[in-house]
Amino acid sequence: MIKVCVNGYGTIGRRVADAVRMQKDMSVVGIVKTKPDYVAEDAARTFKVFADTKENSKKFEDAGIECEGSIEDILDNVDIVVDATPEGVGEKNMNLYRKFKVKAIFQGGEKAELAQTSFNAYSNFTDSWGKDYVRVVSCNTTGLARTVSAIDKRFGALRVEATLIRRATDPNDSKKGPINAVEPSLKFPSHHGPDLKTVLKIPEVDTVAIKVPTTLMHVHTVSIKTEKDVSSEDMLDVFKNYRRIVEVSGKAGVASTAQIMDMAREIGRKRGDLFEIAVWKESMYASGNTIRYIQAVHQESDVVPENVDAIRSMMQLADMEKSTEETDRAMGIGGRI
Ligand code: NAD
Repeated sequence: MIKVCVNGYGTIGRRVADAVRMQKDMSVVGIVKTKPDYVAEDAARTFKVFADTKENSKKFEDAGIECEGSIEDILDNVDIVVDATPEGVGEKNMNLYRKFKVKAIFQGGEKAELAQTSFNAYSNFTDSWGKDYVRVVSCNTTGLARTVSAIDKRFGALRVEATLIRRATDPNDSKKGPINAVEPSLKFPSHHGPDLKTVLKIPEVDTVAIKVPTTLMHVHTVSIKTEKDVSSEDMLDVFKNYRRIVEVSGKAGVASTAQIMDMAREIGRKRGDLFEIAVWKESMYASGNTIRYIQAVHQESDVVPENVDAIRSMMQLADMEKSTEETDRAMGIGGRI
Protein backbone atom coordinates (compact mmCIF):
# COMPACT_ATOMS: atom_id res chain seq x y z
CA MET A 1 0.00 0.00 0.00
CA ILE A 2 1.42 3.35 -1.06
CA LYS A 3 0.90 5.97 1.65
CA VAL A 4 -0.36 9.28 0.26
CA CYS A 5 -0.78 12.76 1.77
CA VAL A 6 -2.98 15.30 -0.03
CA ASN A 7 -1.74 18.82 0.75
CA GLY A 8 -4.37 21.43 -0.18
CA TYR A 9 -7.95 20.25 -0.02
CA GLY A 10 -9.77 22.52 -2.49
CA THR A 11 -11.33 21.83 -5.89
CA ILE A 12 -8.61 19.40 -7.00
CA GLY A 13 -7.32 18.09 -3.64
CA ARG A 14 -10.65 16.82 -2.35
CA ARG A 15 -11.30 14.93 -5.60
CA VAL A 16 -7.80 13.43 -5.66
CA ALA A 17 -8.20 12.29 -2.03
CA ASP A 18 -11.45 10.48 -2.95
CA ALA A 19 -9.89 8.94 -6.08
CA VAL A 20 -6.85 7.64 -4.15
CA ARG A 21 -9.12 6.21 -1.46
CA MET A 22 -10.92 4.15 -4.14
CA GLN A 23 -7.71 2.39 -5.30
CA LYS A 24 -6.55 -0.98 -3.97
CA ASP A 25 -2.83 -0.23 -4.00
CA MET A 26 -2.76 3.16 -2.22
CA SER A 27 -4.33 4.88 0.77
CA VAL A 28 -4.75 8.43 2.08
CA VAL A 29 -2.87 8.81 5.37
CA GLY A 30 -4.25 12.32 5.78
CA ILE A 31 -5.13 15.62 4.16
CA VAL A 32 -3.70 19.06 4.94
CA LYS A 33 -5.88 22.15 5.26
CA THR A 34 -5.27 25.75 6.25
CA LYS A 35 -8.72 26.67 7.60
CA PRO A 36 -11.21 24.88 9.86
CA ASP A 37 -14.15 25.63 7.53
CA TYR A 38 -17.18 23.54 6.37
CA VAL A 39 -14.93 21.62 3.94
CA ALA A 40 -12.59 20.65 6.81
CA GLU A 41 -15.56 19.60 8.93
CA ASP A 42 -16.76 17.27 6.15
CA ALA A 43 -13.23 15.99 5.37
CA ALA A 44 -12.75 14.99 9.01
CA ARG A 45 -15.59 12.43 8.64
CA THR A 46 -13.46 10.49 6.12
CA PHE A 47 -9.82 11.51 6.48
CA LYS A 48 -7.31 12.39 9.18
CA VAL A 49 -6.93 16.16 9.01
CA PHE A 50 -3.61 18.00 9.50
CA ALA A 51 -3.04 21.78 9.47
CA ASP A 52 -0.45 23.52 7.30
CA THR A 53 1.29 24.98 10.39
CA LYS A 54 1.45 24.24 14.13
CA GLU A 55 -0.25 27.58 14.84
CA ASN A 56 -3.15 26.74 12.53
CA SER A 57 -3.69 23.28 14.06
CA LYS A 58 -4.86 25.03 17.24
CA LYS A 59 -7.59 26.81 15.21
CA PHE A 60 -9.01 23.43 14.19
CA GLU A 61 -9.20 22.28 17.82
CA ASP A 62 -10.86 25.60 18.76
CA ALA A 63 -13.46 25.02 16.01
CA GLY A 64 -14.17 21.50 17.34
CA ILE A 65 -12.56 19.72 14.34
CA GLU A 66 -10.19 16.92 15.25
CA CYS A 67 -6.70 17.78 13.98
CA GLU A 68 -3.81 15.28 14.08
CA GLY A 69 -1.09 17.94 14.03
CA SER A 70 0.73 19.94 11.37
CA ILE A 71 2.08 18.96 7.95
CA GLU A 72 5.42 18.08 9.54
CA ASP A 73 3.65 15.37 11.56
CA ILE A 74 2.36 13.59 8.45
CA LEU A 75 5.30 13.89 6.05
CA ASP A 76 7.44 11.46 8.09
CA ASN A 77 4.84 8.77 7.54
CA VAL A 78 4.05 8.94 3.79
CA ASP A 79 5.63 7.84 0.50
CA ILE A 80 4.25 10.63 -1.64
CA VAL A 81 2.44 13.98 -1.39
CA VAL A 82 -0.09 15.23 -3.89
CA ASP A 83 0.30 19.01 -3.62
CA ALA A 84 -2.98 20.64 -4.67
CA THR A 85 -2.37 24.04 -3.11
CA PRO A 86 -3.03 27.27 -5.08
CA GLU A 87 -0.52 28.14 -7.81
CA GLY A 88 2.85 29.24 -6.48
CA VAL A 89 2.34 27.62 -3.05
CA GLY A 90 3.60 24.25 -4.35
CA GLU A 91 6.91 25.87 -5.22
CA LYS A 92 7.20 27.17 -1.65
CA ASN A 93 6.45 23.67 -0.31
CA MET A 94 9.26 22.05 -2.31
CA ASN A 95 11.89 22.60 0.44
CA LEU A 96 9.67 20.81 2.93
CA TYR A 97 9.27 17.79 0.61
CA ARG A 98 13.03 17.69 0.06
CA LYS A 99 13.66 17.95 3.82
CA PHE A 100 11.37 14.98 4.53
CA LYS A 101 12.67 13.05 1.45
CA VAL A 102 9.15 12.50 0.21
CA LYS A 103 8.10 12.31 -3.44
CA ALA A 104 5.69 15.03 -4.62
CA ILE A 105 3.20 15.63 -7.39
CA PHE A 106 2.43 19.26 -8.29
CA GLN A 107 -0.50 20.61 -10.28
CA GLY A 108 -0.70 22.61 -13.50
CA GLY A 109 -0.65 26.00 -11.76
CA GLU A 110 3.03 25.46 -10.89
CA LYS A 111 5.83 26.18 -13.37
CA ALA A 112 6.96 23.20 -15.42
CA GLU A 113 10.57 23.73 -14.25
CA LEU A 114 9.61 23.00 -10.63
CA ALA A 115 9.33 19.27 -11.39
CA GLN A 116 11.60 16.78 -13.15
CA THR A 117 8.91 16.19 -15.75
CA SER A 118 5.26 16.96 -16.57
CA PHE A 119 2.67 14.20 -16.81
CA ASN A 120 -0.27 13.04 -18.86
CA ALA A 121 -1.03 9.32 -18.78
CA TYR A 122 -1.80 8.81 -22.49
CA SER A 123 1.02 11.10 -23.64
CA ASN A 124 4.12 10.34 -21.56
CA PHE A 125 3.42 7.94 -18.63
CA THR A 126 6.95 6.46 -18.66
CA ASP A 127 8.73 9.85 -18.35
CA SER A 128 7.67 9.92 -14.67
CA TRP A 129 8.82 6.35 -13.96
CA GLY A 130 10.61 6.35 -10.56
CA LYS A 131 10.86 10.17 -10.51
CA ASP A 132 10.65 12.17 -7.25
CA TYR A 133 8.97 15.38 -8.49
CA VAL A 134 6.31 15.41 -11.19
CA ARG A 135 3.76 17.98 -12.34
CA VAL A 136 0.36 16.94 -13.70
CA VAL A 137 -0.43 19.44 -16.47
CA SER A 138 -3.43 21.79 -16.14
CA CYS A 139 -7.06 20.94 -16.93
CA ASN A 140 -6.88 22.58 -20.38
CA THR A 141 -3.56 20.96 -21.27
CA THR A 142 -4.83 17.59 -20.03
CA GLY A 143 -7.87 17.95 -22.33
CA LEU A 144 -5.66 18.76 -25.31
CA ALA A 145 -3.06 16.10 -24.47
CA ARG A 146 -5.64 13.31 -24.29
CA THR A 147 -7.22 13.85 -27.69
CA VAL A 148 -4.12 15.10 -29.53
CA SER A 149 -2.07 12.09 -28.33
CA ALA A 150 -4.80 9.77 -29.68
CA ILE A 151 -4.61 11.51 -33.09
CA ASP A 152 -0.81 11.58 -32.99
CA LYS A 153 -0.53 7.83 -32.31
CA ARG A 154 -2.87 6.97 -35.18
CA PHE A 155 -2.08 9.55 -37.88
CA GLY A 156 1.03 11.48 -36.71
CA ALA A 157 0.39 15.11 -35.65
CA LEU A 158 2.55 17.81 -37.29
CA ARG A 159 0.77 20.99 -36.23
CA VAL A 160 -1.94 21.68 -33.63
CA GLU A 161 -4.02 24.86 -33.60
CA ALA A 162 -6.52 25.26 -30.79
CA THR A 163 -8.82 27.98 -29.52
CA LEU A 164 -9.58 27.55 -25.83
CA ILE A 165 -12.83 29.10 -24.61
CA ARG A 166 -12.16 29.07 -20.89
CA ARG A 167 -14.58 29.08 -17.97
CA ALA A 168 -14.21 32.20 -15.81
CA THR A 169 -13.80 30.35 -12.49
CA ASP A 170 -15.02 27.26 -10.60
CA PRO A 171 -18.63 26.96 -9.35
CA ASN A 172 -17.66 27.30 -5.66
CA ASP A 173 -15.88 30.63 -6.22
CA SER A 174 -17.68 33.96 -5.85
CA LYS A 175 -14.65 36.23 -6.16
CA LYS A 176 -13.17 35.78 -9.63
CA GLY A 177 -14.63 36.65 -13.03
CA PRO A 178 -15.35 37.91 -15.60
CA ILE A 179 -19.08 37.97 -14.86
CA ASN A 180 -20.15 40.11 -17.82
CA ALA A 181 -17.31 40.28 -20.32
CA VAL A 182 -15.25 38.22 -22.74
CA GLU A 183 -11.58 38.37 -21.81
CA PRO A 184 -9.00 37.29 -24.40
CA SER A 185 -5.48 36.34 -23.36
CA LEU A 186 -3.29 38.80 -25.25
CA LYS A 187 -0.28 36.51 -25.40
CA PHE A 188 0.29 34.37 -28.50
CA PRO A 189 0.51 31.50 -28.19
CA SER A 190 -1.32 31.32 -24.85
CA HIS A 191 0.67 29.37 -22.22
CA HIS A 192 -1.26 26.19 -23.15
CA GLY A 193 0.71 25.70 -26.39
CA PRO A 194 4.15 25.46 -24.72
CA ASP A 195 2.53 23.49 -21.88
CA LEU A 196 1.25 20.80 -24.28
CA LYS A 197 4.80 20.44 -25.57
CA THR A 198 5.98 19.45 -22.06
CA VAL A 199 4.12 16.14 -22.45
CA LEU A 200 3.79 15.63 -26.24
CA LYS A 201 6.48 16.01 -28.86
CA ILE A 202 4.40 17.78 -31.54
CA PRO A 203 6.54 19.99 -33.83
CA GLU A 204 4.17 23.00 -33.88
CA VAL A 205 1.46 23.99 -31.37
CA ASP A 206 -0.43 27.28 -31.50
CA THR A 207 -3.12 28.17 -28.96
CA VAL A 208 -5.43 31.11 -28.32
CA ALA A 209 -7.32 31.46 -25.02
CA ILE A 210 -10.45 33.47 -24.24
CA LYS A 211 -12.25 33.59 -20.87
CA VAL A 212 -16.05 33.72 -20.85
CA PRO A 213 -18.61 34.11 -18.02
CA THR A 214 -19.42 30.47 -17.21
CA THR A 215 -18.28 28.12 -14.46
CA LEU A 216 -19.24 24.76 -15.98
CA MET A 217 -16.55 23.68 -18.45
CA HIS A 218 -13.95 24.82 -20.97
CA VAL A 219 -14.59 24.31 -24.72
CA HIS A 220 -11.77 23.81 -27.25
CA THR A 221 -11.93 23.96 -31.02
CA VAL A 222 -9.00 21.91 -32.33
CA SER A 223 -7.44 21.66 -35.79
CA ILE A 224 -4.59 19.22 -36.44
CA LYS A 225 -2.39 18.78 -39.51
CA THR A 226 -1.41 15.14 -39.80
CA GLU A 227 1.38 13.21 -41.57
CA LYS A 228 -1.10 10.97 -43.37
CA ASP A 229 -4.33 11.82 -45.13
CA VAL A 230 -7.34 10.90 -43.01
CA SER A 231 -10.77 9.82 -44.23
CA SER A 232 -13.98 10.73 -42.40
CA GLU A 233 -14.52 7.03 -41.58
CA ASP A 234 -11.04 6.74 -40.00
CA MET A 235 -11.74 9.86 -38.00
CA LEU A 236 -15.01 8.56 -36.61
CA ASP A 237 -13.49 5.67 -34.66
CA VAL A 238 -10.24 7.33 -33.57
CA PHE A 239 -11.31 8.06 -29.98
CA LYS A 240 -13.26 4.82 -29.41
CA ASN A 241 -10.34 2.94 -27.78
CA TYR A 242 -9.82 5.59 -25.13
CA ARG A 243 -11.96 5.38 -21.99
CA ARG A 244 -11.02 8.93 -20.97
CA ILE A 245 -12.46 10.43 -24.15
CA VAL A 246 -16.22 10.18 -24.71
CA GLU A 247 -18.31 11.13 -27.71
CA VAL A 248 -21.40 13.24 -27.15
CA SER A 249 -24.00 14.07 -29.76
CA GLY A 250 -25.97 17.21 -30.57
CA LYS A 251 -28.60 14.98 -32.19
CA ALA A 252 -29.11 13.25 -28.83
CA GLY A 253 -29.73 16.63 -27.23
CA VAL A 254 -26.23 17.49 -26.02
CA ALA A 255 -26.12 20.98 -27.48
CA SER A 256 -23.90 22.65 -24.88
CA THR A 257 -21.82 22.23 -21.74
CA ALA A 258 -25.06 22.50 -19.72
CA GLN A 259 -26.30 19.14 -21.06
CA ILE A 260 -22.87 17.50 -20.63
CA MET A 261 -22.84 18.43 -16.95
CA ASP A 262 -26.46 17.30 -16.66
CA MET A 263 -25.46 13.90 -18.07
CA ALA A 264 -22.67 13.58 -15.50
CA ARG A 265 -25.19 14.28 -12.72
CA GLU A 266 -27.73 11.87 -14.20
CA ILE A 267 -25.31 8.94 -14.25
CA GLY A 268 -24.69 9.57 -10.57
CA ARG A 269 -21.16 10.91 -10.62
CA LYS A 270 -20.18 12.33 -7.22
CA ARG A 271 -20.12 16.18 -7.41
CA GLY A 272 -21.43 15.86 -11.00
CA ASP A 273 -17.86 15.24 -12.23
CA LEU A 274 -16.92 14.27 -15.78
CA PHE A 275 -13.39 12.88 -15.71
CA GLU A 276 -13.55 12.14 -19.45
CA ILE A 277 -13.00 14.70 -22.24
CA ALA A 278 -16.25 15.06 -24.22
CA VAL A 279 -15.90 15.35 -28.01
CA TRP A 280 -18.93 16.34 -30.12
CA LYS A 281 -19.45 13.58 -32.68
CA GLU A 282 -20.91 15.98 -35.27
CA SER A 283 -17.86 18.25 -35.00
CA MET A 284 -15.39 15.51 -35.99
CA TYR A 285 -14.25 16.32 -39.48
CA ALA A 286 -11.38 15.13 -41.68
CA SER A 287 -10.29 16.43 -45.07
CA GLY A 288 -6.92 15.61 -46.67
CA ASN A 289 -4.39 15.92 -43.87
CA THR A 290 -6.51 18.14 -41.62
CA ILE A 291 -8.60 16.96 -38.67
CA ARG A 292 -11.03 19.18 -36.76
CA TYR A 293 -13.18 18.64 -33.69
CA ILE A 294 -14.72 20.47 -30.73
CA GLN A 295 -14.34 19.19 -27.18
CA ALA A 296 -15.45 20.12 -23.68
CA VAL A 297 -13.30 19.80 -20.56
CA HIS A 298 -14.62 19.52 -16.99
CA GLN A 299 -11.89 21.58 -15.36
CA GLU A 300 -12.67 20.45 -11.81
CA SER A 301 -12.13 16.77 -12.48
CA ASP A 302 -10.25 15.76 -15.67
CA VAL A 303 -6.83 15.91 -13.95
CA VAL A 304 -7.95 13.68 -11.05
CA PRO A 305 -7.32 10.23 -12.62
CA GLU A 306 -4.03 11.61 -13.97
CA ASN A 307 -2.82 12.23 -10.40
CA VAL A 308 -3.56 8.60 -9.50
CA ASP A 309 -1.60 7.35 -12.54
CA ALA A 310 1.27 9.72 -11.79
CA ILE A 311 1.54 8.10 -8.33
CA ARG A 312 1.80 4.63 -9.96
CA SER A 313 4.42 5.78 -12.45
CA MET A 314 6.55 7.52 -9.79
CA MET A 315 6.25 4.52 -7.43
CA GLN A 316 6.91 2.09 -10.33
CA LEU A 317 3.74 0.13 -9.60
CA ALA A 318 2.24 -0.52 -13.06
CA ASP A 319 2.61 0.37 -16.72
CA MET A 320 0.29 2.84 -18.48
CA GLU A 321 -2.28 0.27 -19.67
CA LYS A 322 -2.52 -1.45 -16.28
CA SER A 323 -2.56 1.76 -14.26
CA THR A 324 -5.19 3.57 -16.32
CA GLU A 325 -7.35 0.41 -16.36
CA GLU A 326 -7.09 0.12 -12.57
CA THR A 327 -7.80 3.84 -12.01
CA ASP A 328 -10.71 3.90 -14.45
CA ARG A 329 -12.36 0.76 -13.04
CA ALA A 330 -12.15 2.10 -9.49
CA MET A 331 -13.54 5.52 -10.52
CA GLY A 332 -16.18 4.25 -12.97
CA ILE A 333 -14.55 6.02 -15.94
CA GLY A 334 -15.61 5.03 -19.46
CA GLY A 335 -18.68 3.26 -18.20
CA ARG A 336 -22.16 4.56 -18.89
CA ILE A 337 -21.61 7.68 -20.98
P1 NAD B 1 -8.41 25.76 -4.66
O1 NAD B 1 -8.20 27.16 -4.29
O2 NAD B 1 -9.76 25.27 -4.94
O3 NAD B 1 -7.80 24.80 -3.55
C1 NAD B 1 -6.55 25.03 -2.95
C2 NAD B 1 -6.67 24.71 -1.47
O4 NAD B 1 -5.37 24.80 -0.85
C3 NAD B 1 -7.59 25.64 -0.71
O5 NAD B 1 -8.42 24.87 0.13
C4 NAD B 1 -6.62 26.52 0.12
O6 NAD B 1 -7.21 26.95 1.32
C5 NAD B 1 -5.51 25.52 0.37
N1 NAD B 1 -4.21 26.11 0.72
C6 NAD B 1 -3.78 27.37 0.49
N2 NAD B 1 -2.51 27.50 0.95
C7 NAD B 1 -2.16 26.31 1.49
C8 NAD B 1 -1.01 25.82 2.16
N3 NAD B 1 0.07 26.58 2.34
N4 NAD B 1 -0.99 24.53 2.58
C9 NAD B 1 -2.09 23.73 2.39
N5 NAD B 1 -3.21 24.15 1.79
C10 NAD B 1 -3.24 25.41 1.33
O7 NAD B 1 -7.43 25.50 -5.88
P2 NAD B 1 -7.58 24.38 -7.00
O8 NAD B 1 -8.51 24.89 -8.04
O9 NAD B 1 -7.85 23.05 -6.35
O10 NAD B 1 -6.13 24.43 -7.63
C11 NAD B 1 -5.04 23.73 -7.06
C12 NAD B 1 -3.99 23.52 -8.13
O11 NAD B 1 -4.58 22.74 -9.18
C13 NAD B 1 -3.48 24.79 -8.82
O12 NAD B 1 -2.13 24.59 -9.22
C14 NAD B 1 -4.36 24.91 -10.04
O13 NAD B 1 -3.77 25.65 -11.08
C15 NAD B 1 -4.49 23.44 -10.41
N6 NAD B 1 -5.69 23.09 -11.21
C16 NAD B 1 -6.90 23.68 -10.98
C17 NAD B 1 -7.99 23.33 -11.76
C18 NAD B 1 -9.32 23.97 -11.58
O14 NAD B 1 -10.01 24.17 -12.58
N7 NAD B 1 -9.74 24.29 -10.40
C19 NAD B 1 -7.86 22.37 -12.76
C20 NAD B 1 -6.62 21.74 -12.94
C21 NAD B 1 -5.52 22.13 -12.17
